[in-house]
Amino acid sequence: MEKYDLRLTGGEVFLEGHGTSTVDILIRDGRIAALTEPDAANDATEIVDITGKLVLPGGIDPHVHLGKDIRVPRDPDDAERETASAVAGGVTSILTYLMSSNSYVSEFEDAQAVMSGNSHANFGFHFVLGTPEHLEEFKDYMNLGVSSFKFFMNFRGDEGAYLGMPGNDDSFMYELLKKSAEHGAMINPHPENIELVRMLSDSTRDDSLPPLEAWNAARPPFVEADAAQRVAYLASVTGASVYCVHTSSNEALQAIARQRAAYPNLFIETCTQYLTLDTSSDVGVYAKVNPPVRPREDVESLWTAFANGQIDTVGSDHNARHRSNKDKSIWDASAGFPGMGTLVPMTLAEGLRRKISLATIVDAISTRSAKLFGMYPQKGLIAVGSDADLTVIDLNKPTKITAETQHSAADYTPWEGTEIPLSVAHTLVGGRFALRDGALTDICAGKYISRPHSGAAALEGRPS
Ligand SMILES: [Zn+2]
Repeated sequence: MEKYDLRLTGGEVFLEGHGTSTVDILIRDGRIAALTEPDAANDATEIVDITGKLVLPGGIDPHVHLGKDIRVPRDPDDAERETASAVAGGVTSILTYLMSSNSYVSEFEDAQAVMSGNSHANFGFHFVLGTPEHLEEFKDYMNLGVSSFKFFMNFRGDEGAYLGMPGNDDSFMYELLKKSAEHGAMINPHPENIELVRMLSDSTRDDSLPPLEAWNAARPPFVEADAAQRVAYLASVTGASVYCVHTSSNEALQAIARQRAAYPNLFIETCTQYLTLDTSSDVGVYAKVNPPVRPREDVESLWTAFANGQIDTVGSDHNARHRSNKDKSIWDASAGFPGMGTLVPMTLAEGLRRKISLATIVDAISTRSAKLFGMYPQKGLIAVGSDADLTVIDLNKPTKITAETQHSAADYTPWEGTEIPLSVAHTLVGGRFALRDGALTDICAGKYISRPHSGAAALEGRPS
């Protein structure tokens, strides 16, 4: 009889299209080698009893920033510490944005060197494009297995200078959309109309408002919706696939939905913060982010869209801004916070509380990202032949979220003190325990994920 490396026995396993079934998972060489009845005999080196626990395809965080300057991971701890946060929260694969005005051919090599051997989770990259050289090298980037690219619509003039990015405009974006259509890639725009933001930041500034209300007033939903609508329309003109990152408001959601009615290759990401925090949350400046967290009505609209399957994915927009950058006024604090560790538990707990089907939730926190970003069926699926990236959830063991449970170097979480009724019991990356019985192991076995196509080309299975 063939020997397996590991048998997970007794779990309630989520199988796409079938809901959950009590089956055993047999793993060999990092992949799922067989799914069998719990009483079937099989020879495995190790057997782990997970009776009664829920087994999901490993969580995928499609929106991550690493590195102390949030541009590129440079030091081993940029990878190790932040991906510890990921696997502690049931995320087995992450897609990290590299941001540089240099050629990404060398940036890619450097980032890969930092991640390899130091990442608990599997990892791929999106590149932030902003220079003519980037456009010229587009095909080279595709050949590296990077097929999704960010464009900051708000980096007009010197707006992106603090992140080392040049200013650009809609003509650059148009060229980028055309290139991506031609090569089977996807563009992930940051949609905010910065000209309106500049004007509103002055005219709406009101220091008597609670911080998150003030920040929302300075960058209101229509600023996001206007930009989302523009890039979505230009996607239809060029035939590009566009993935609207961190959709935060009902206005933006509706703007994209209107365009999507006429042109299908538009995809919507929201983030855990927009599903769980609002302008009245007392976390204050720790939840400062762009786009801002919104009033409660927007949170409810996002959940309605989520339940209807209109939201494709949930990301975290994780970045490990240290708390010393946050302990300031809402106007002076850095935007962004860590979230890889909360994505799966918070979305799952809140989704289940709202009686949303497990299939819809799993799609948004794993499967759909795998499909859109060219990782399926290796990722996002529990099936024979798929990678053994698994998240095992204990639905009966509550968790209290604290900075400590998040492991991030940022040293705070906007969800500090939040109690949820479930916990991540085990996280397996490539068949090995990155988290076991709720405790991190020291295994950093994350592998680079090469993604030949993204967007429509990935969904159609276009050959590379
Ligand atoms: Zn981001």
